[in-house]
Amino acid sequence: MINLDIFTFTFDQLYWLMIILIVETVLIILSIVTMIVNWKSQWQKDKVHLEKVQELSDKLEERSKRLVDISDSNNRRFNYINSVFMTMKDGIVVFNQSQRIILMNPSAQTYLKMNQSVFFDSLDHNQNQFYLFLKEMVHKTSVTNETQVLFYNDNEYSYEVFSSIIDNKYRKDDKLGVLVAIVDVTEKRRVEKIRKEFVENVSHEFRTPMTLISGVIEMLKMWDNIDVEDRNKALDIIDIQTNRLKRLISELLTLSEIEGRIQLNDQMIIDVEDILLDMIEMFTPIANKKGITLLHDIQLSYPLVEGNEEFFYQAISNVLDNAIKYTSECGWVSLVSYADNQFCYIKIEDNGVGMQEHHLDRIFDRFYRVDEHRSSKTGGSGIGLSIVKDVVTLMNGNIEVDSKLNQGSTFIIKLPIIKESVK
Ligand code: ADP
Repeated sequence: MINLDIFTFTFDQLYWLMIILIVETVLIILSIVTMIVNWKSQWQKDKVHLEKVQELSDKLEERSKRLVDISDSNNRRFNYINSVFMTMKDGIVVFNQSQRIILMNPSAQTYLKMNQSVFFDSLDHNQNQFYLFLKEMVHKTSVTNETQVLFYNDNEYSYEVFSSIIDNKYRKDDKLGVLVAIVDVTEKRRVEKIRKEFVENVSHEFRTPMTLISGVIEMLKMWDNIDVEDRNKALDIIDIQTNRLKRLISELLTLSEIEGRIQLNDQMIIDVEDILLDMIEMFTPIANKKGITLLHDIQLSYPLVEGNEEFFYQAISNVLDNAIKYTSECGWVSLVSYADNQFCYIKIEDNGVGMQEHHLDRIFDRFYRVDEHRSSKTGGSGIGLSIVKDVVTLMNGNIEVDSKLNQGSTFIIKLPIIKESVK
């Protein structure tokens, strides 16, 4: 037995105390171990969690990069579409379901003579005939659900207009509005008109001599005992009209050749003096036969020009031929040529029948004749001067005319010379 006054324990008590101490210690250790284990598992969990968060953040970053890429490419595409829309020569107008304009490119604004205010106030445009025409078309398209194609003409311009429904790509049976496309066909129509008039004129020019020739042939067939004088008269008519047809065909061929050459643009060097001297030689007997004097004065120090020699020859002879044709017996025709250091001038003058001033602007048009009667006597078709004009224009020159009725006419052809061409 241990006796420690106050702390007096029996051995048993000491034993139990020891046991309790040990158990306490074990419990403490156990709780520490549990804590460590828990802490470790929590740490591991946190680690996994952290990794997941990192992975998620990486994915988000990648996705955001992709979104930026998509948005960039969409911006580029939008930019592209917008630029095409803004620079298109054809006009584009988009109407919404309430048939109000929501989009319009600059060409459409020009064609419709409208500005941006159309988006804010459509009432302003109720006087605009073209706008009202489009509204009518859009209405019809919405009601019928069918594409419309119509022509619109104002005083100066012609347009082909297409209108069609804009379907919603993402929702079936949903319509977004109506798309209108406006194509300027003014030039196309002008060319078609010229072509149509040309064919009509050519047919007309052919019909007259053909009718005369076939009439004379019919007459010859019917008359068994025709006397020599009548027979010669009939043959003369056939001869004149056949020549007229031949001349017409050759003029038409020249015209078509000139047009082909305009595209080819094949120029050669022409010695103007040589050609004019040839002309004098060729036309003097023709003029003399009619009792007309052909005067000439050719002073060329820079005689070379650029162009097609054959056409140039044809052009000068057309003007000279007219001068002789439209001058009466005992009259005169003169051919004068001179040059400065830039241009060569060819002046063809006559004291013949002349023309009134109002014809002067038109005599270079195809098939234009001052007086049908006057030309039919001479067999003219009204193509000659249009050939001259085409040839001179092809040579970068011009032609001017001055004329007074019953006093005479003066034609001046001005052509640029080749500088190095001093003879
Ligand atoms: P055409 O072959 O019928 O003469 P052109 O084209 O050569 O056709 O001429 C057009 C018109 O111009 C003619 O109908 C003619 O009346 C007139 N003309 C041309 N040259 C002269 C001229 N020197 N004097 C008077 N009229 C002319």
